[in-house]
Amino acid sequence: MDFSLTDDQRLIRNTVRQFMEAEVRPVIREYDREEKFPEAELRKLGELGCCGMLVPEEWGGAGVDTISYVLMLEEVARVDAATAVALSVTNSVSSVPVWKHGTEAQKKKYLPPLARGETLGAFCLTEPQAGSDSAAIQARAERRGDVYRLNGTKSWVTNGGVSGLYVVFAKTDSAAGARGVTAFLVEPGFPGFRVSRYEDKMGIRTSRSAEIVFTDCEVPAANRLGEEGQGLKIALEALDGGRVGIGAQAVGIAQGALEAAVGYAKQRRAFGKTISEFQAIQWMLADMQTEIEAARGLVYYAAWQRDQGSARLGPYASRAKLYASEMVNRVAYKAVQVHGSVGYSRETDVERMYRDARVISIYEGTSEIQRLIIARDLLQSAPGVRETPPRDAVLPKAFEHSQAKALDSSQAEAFDSSRAKGGR
Ligand SMILES: Cc1cc2nc3c(=O)[nH]c(=O)nc-3n(C[C@H](O)[C@H](O)[C@H](O)COP(=O)(O)OP(=O)(O)OC[C@H]3O[C@@H](n4cnc5c(N)ncnc54)[C@H](O)[C@@H]3O)c2cc1C
Repeated sequence: MDFSLTDDQRLIRNTVRQFMEAEVRPVIREYDREEKFPEAELRKLGELGCCGMLVPEEWGGAGVDTISYVLMLEEVARVDAATAVALSVTNSVSSVPVWKHGTEAQKKKYLPPLARGETLGAFCLTEPQAGSDSAAIQARAERRGDVYRLNGTKSWVTNGGVSGLYVVFAKTDSAAGARGVTAFLVEPGFPGFRVSRYEDKMGIRTSRSAEIVFTDCEVPAANRLGEEGQGLKIALEALDGGRVGIGAQAVGIAQGALEAAVGYAKQRRAFGKTISEFQAIQWMLADMQTEIEAARGLVYYAAWQRDQGSARLGPYASRAKLYASEMVNRVAYKAVQVHGSVGYSRETDVERMYRDARVISIYEGTSEIQRLIIARDLLQSAPGVRETPPRDAVLPKAFEHSQAKALDSSQAEAFDSSRAKGGR
C-alpha cells in the first residue's frame, strides 16, 4: 500500500493551489457578495487543464487519473466551493457521459471545447417535483422524424445559463418507468430552450443554479446520447463518479476552514494568552483535522476504485460523499466557533465556507439517499463475499417498497423498474 502522491499528482495540486491563492483568493469575498460568476477564473482554470481532466487526450482532455482530479477539486474548493462545483459538473457529469456514451461525432463536437474550458457543461436531471426520485421525472421527448421534441422543466441546473452543453434527461416512454428515460445533448441555441430564472441561494452564491424550460425544444436525433431507455443508467453512472468529486469538494472546503481557524486561534488573544492555548480550542482543531483526514481517505479510496474500473464504484462513492459532506458541516461549524463573533461576519472566509458547506449533503444525492445505497449494498452482500455481489440479488424485504427508488449505477440494471425506480 502506497499513500504517496506521484510527481505529476503533486505538480497538479501545487499548480492549482498557486493559481487559486493568486487569482481567486483576493477576489472571492467580493464575488460572493455580488454573486459574480467567476467566468475569467474558470477560463484560466480551463487553460490549466482543469475542465477535461478525466477525458483522454485524444478528445482534448488531460486524461489523468481520478486521484489527480480529486486533488484539483480539493485545491479549488479550499479557496472557493462555487468554482469547484462548476468544474465538477463540467468534468464528471457532463464530459464523462459524452466520452463514455457519445458517438464519434458527438465526442468530436462537444468534448474539445469542454476540455479547453471554452464552455462549461451542465447536467439536467432534477425537476421541480422530482429530485431524489429521479425516475419520476416528467420531461418528455417525442421523436418526429429526425428530431425529438422536448418538453418539460429542469430545476437547480448548475452552470445553467453559462453552459454550452446541457445533458438533459427526459422520458421517451412514459409506461416504461425508469427504463423509459433517455439522455440528450442540448445546446442553448436550440429552438425552444429557455432559462426561466436563477435560484437565490444560501451559499455557493457565485455558482449559477438555473431553472430551464423546454417548450417543443427541437433536439436533432443525432444528439440523443446512448440508446432510448438508457438515460437513467447514464445519469446514475455519471453520479457515481460525480459523488467522488463532491466528496473532494467537501474535503477542500473543510481544509480551508481548518487553516483559517488555526491561523485565527494563533493570533487571537483572550485572558492574557492566545486562544490556541486553551484546550477547548485545541480539541476542536484536533477533531477537525482528524475528520478531514478520515474523509480524505474515503475520497481517495473511492477515486482509486474508479481508476481500477470497479464495477461497484457506487457504494464507495456514496460512503465518501456521505461522510465528507456531513464532516464539512461539522468542521465549518467549528471554524466559525473558533472565530467567535468575527466568524459571523461576512468579512471572514469561514462565514462563506459555513454557508457553502450546507449544500454538499444535498446535491448529487442527499445523505439519506447515500445511506440507502450503502445499506442496500451492505445487506445484499453475504459476509466475506462483498466484492462480487450477484447482479440479480434479491432485495431485502425492507427495501421492496416505494422508498427503494434510489439506486447507484451498479444496481440500476439489476432491478425491475416497477420494484425500484432509478433514483439518487
Ligand atoms: C445548489 C444546488 C445545485 C444543484 N445542481 C444540480 C444539477 O446541476 N443538476 C441536477 O439535476 N440537480 C441539481 N441539484 C438538485 C439536487 O441534486 C437535488 O436537490 C437532490 O437530488 C435532492 O432532491 P430534492 O431537492 O428534490 O429533495 P427531495 O427528493 O424532495 O428530498 C427531500 C428530503 O426527503 C429525503 N428523501 C427523499 N427520498 C427519500 C427516501 N427514499 N428515503 C429517505 N429520505 C428520502 C431527502 O433526503 C431530503 O431530505 C442541485 C441542488 C442544489 C441545491
